[in-house]
Amino acid sequence: MGQFGTEFCDHIAIARYENEAWQTPSIEPLKPLEMHPAAHVFHYASTCFEGFKAYRWSDGKARIYRLPDHVARMQKSAASLRLPVPDAELLTDMVVSLVAHHTDDIPLPPSSLYLRPTLIGTLPNIGAAAGPSTEATLFVLASPVGDYFSAGASTLKLLVEDEQSRTTEQLGSTKTGGNYAAALGPTLDAKEKYGADQVLFCPNGDVQETGAANFLLISDDEIITKPLDSSFLHGMTRDSILRLAAENDYKVNERNFTVSELLELSKTHEAALSGTAACLAPVGRLVYKGEEFKMRDGEAGPNTAKLRKLLQDVQYGLAPDTHGWLTEVS
Ligand SMILES: *Cc1c(COP(=O)(O)O)cnc(C)c1O
Repeated sequence: MGQFGTEFCDHIAIARYENEAWQTPSIEPLKPLEMHPAAHVFHYASTCFEGFKAYRWSDGKARIYRLPDHVARMQKSAASLRLPVPDAELLTDMVVSLVAHHTDDIPLPPSSLYLRPTLIGTLPNIGAAAGPSTEATLFVLASPVGDYFSAGASTLKLLVEDEQSRTTEQLGSTKTGGNYAAALGPTLDAKEKYGADQVLFCPNGDVQETGAANFLLISDDEIITKPLDSSFLHGMTRDSILRLAAENDYKVNERNFTVSELLELSKTHEAALSGTAACLAPVGRLVYKGEEFKMRDGEAGPNTAKLRKLLQDVQYGLAPDTHGWLTEVS
C-alpha cells in the first residue's frame, strides 16, 4: 500500500440529485467525474465529506465502524451547507454495497479500508454565490490503507496558536473542504518555521483542535478534552475513546481549558490527537511563543497506548463490541 489515501478500489458508489430527488445509486468503475466548469462546488465550496473505516476480520467478513453515526454527521454537514441532504438509508446502502463489492480487497488488520463519502454541489450557476446548489453528486470512494504506526511514527510536535482560528464559527463542526483550506496556510507556516507537524488552534487561549484531529490530555486516571460546541468537529474517535476511558476507570473531564493551563498540565499529562486515520496519535512536544514544552517526558505515553489498544481491539474483532459500533457486511 502506498501513502495514506493514494490507492483506490476500482469502483465507487454514486448517486445524483436532480429535479428535487435522489436518483437510484449505482456501483460504477472508478473514473474521472464529468462536471460543468460552472459547477457550484468549484466556485462556492459547496462540499462536505466523511471518513471512516471498514475492517476485515479473520472470518472473512467486513465490519464498518460507527456507520450510522458517520451517516448522521454527513447529513448534518450537508444541511449546514444547504446541500441536498442524502437520506440515511440511501447513504448507508451506498456504503454497504461498496464494501460488499470490495470485501476481498480489504487488507487484514491493522490495515483497513478507508471510506470517503463526498457530496458536492453541481448546479452550473456562477451567479449562485448566495444561493444553494439544487443539484448535487454524492459518491463513496474506497481506499485500502495501512497502519499509521507501522512506519514507526514518532511523537508529534504541535505549534500552539493562540490567535488564529482553524475556521469560522458557523462551519466549525461541519466536515467541509473550506475548513482545511483555512488551516493549510498556518499549518505549512508552522512546519517551515518550527518543524511542527500540526497547529493546535486555541483562539483567545481556548484550546480547540488541530486542522484535522481532536486534542485530548490524558493522565494515569483522567482525560481532559473540550466539551462539544460549534467551534470544532465532533470526532467519532474522540467519542469512542471517552466512552472506553470511562469504562476503564478514567475520570472523563469534558471542560474548556486555556493555553496556560495546558502548559501547566504538560508536566503530568500525556497529549494525543484523535481521528479515524491514526486512531490516537501521541503528541510529544508543544511549541508556544518560540519555546518548547514536553508533554511529560516527551515520549509516547502508556495511557495513550492503552486507550488506543482498547479501541483497536474492538475494531479488529479482538474484543467484544459491547456498544454496537460495528455494522457487519455479509
Ligand atoms: C474528521 C475530523 C476529526 C476527527 O473525526 P473522527 O470522526 O474521529 O475521524 C477531527 N477534527 C476535524 C477538523 C476533522 O475534520
